[in-house]
Amino acid sequence: ESVFSNVARAPEDPILGVTVAYNKDPSPVKINLGVGAYRTEEGKPLVLDVVRRAELQLVNDQTRVKEYIPIVGLADFNKLSAKLILGGDSPAIKENRVATIQCLSGTGSLRVGAEFLTKHYHQNVIYIPKPTWGNHPKVFNLAGLSVEYFRYYDPTTRGLDFQGLIEDLGAAPSGAIVLLHACAHNPTGVDPTPEQWEQIRQLIRSKSLLPFFDSAYQGFASGSLDTDAQSVRMFVADGGECLIAQSYAKNMGLYGERVGALSIVCKSADVASKVESQVKLVVRPMYSSPPIHGASIVATILKSRERNRTPGDWSHIIKQIGMFTFTGLNTEQVAFMTKEHHIYMTSDGRISMAGLSSKTVPHLADAIHAAVA
Ligand code: PMP
Repeated sequence: ESVFSNVARAPEDPILGVTVAYNKDPSPVKINLGVGAYRTEEGKPLVLDVVRRAELQLVNDQTRVKEYIPIVGLADFNKLSAKLILGGDSPAIKENRVATIQCLSGTGSLRVGAEFLTKHYHQNVIYIPKPTWGNHPKVFNLAGLSVEYFRYYDPTTRGLDFQGLIEDLGAAPSGAIVLLHACAHNPTGVDPTPEQWEQIRQLIRSKSLLPFFDSAYQGFASGSLDTDAQSVRMFVADGGECLIAQSYAKNMGLYGERVGALSIVCKSADVASKVESQVKLVVRPMYSSPPIHGASIVATILKSRERNRTPGDWSHIIKQIGMFTFTGLNTEQVAFMTKEHHIYMTSDGRISMAGLSSKTVPHLADAIHAAVA
């Protein structure tokens, strides 16, 4: 007789259980619409080209070792992650008042943030939207927070219950923590408008509520990493404090690598460094330090993105419609690109987008960079 014979069978996770059931189904027409993961046209898992390239670069780098990394993770990764969500010119970053800690994807970042709050924050109530990602209440409860809901989705309009949201947050006790999806709310796909965000911000600040952003889909709402970070940046621009859990599972397709970051934006550099010292005490007995590989991939990709920062605004490439892009490159720049980089286009700087493929885009980007930088 096992000492565990009285252990009852637990139910499958409601989200991950969908895949378990799908895998068991022998039908050739089966479709899995449960898990949030990109698939190829054939339904196979997809690894992004940038990720493959970064991995090759890492594997070929003979100086890389497998020693433990610090409790807080890779310094480069942390810096670049904070920049990605807060913006390159964020005063909070410049003033050194953001403590960023590499964590185990979005879930781990939420959990570490919640454990820190349980130990060091004066209010242990967290308000989460109704409905929200199914793991939220479990993560926060286990970390020792007490979970309440605020109205979010209105089934009759299939849109935001803004009135309900404002009423419920308005009735929350002063100092309560509020979990906000930075963008692309899961599971509803309903986000507040920028004007509504501004009203939410005013309410949260006027009641001294503490915003905790869950950013699992930066880039998925508008297609722009910066636009999708606007909600978070509004709350940082007002000088107030907040927490942010970032996940690279979706926007870099790194699901199983478990790469994410927790940032705690504080009022001063002194507070931020003390906060960081306490978050280390949360992490050390939990998993000691985070894994190297996934964070190295992200750091490599974000670093190369920085390097290519071609001067000027190139958003017209996305905004202009039709088959052509009127690049704004002048005759001399076009001639330079043809001569030095073997790229051919009309001298007015017009390029046919149809002539490009995902393989040739980096070559074009490098050539434009060389022409204008
Ligand atoms: N938050 C939300 C809203 C999510 O949808 C997810 C992933 N489904 C996560 C956090 C965390 O995912 P992960 O731990 O894989 O980053």
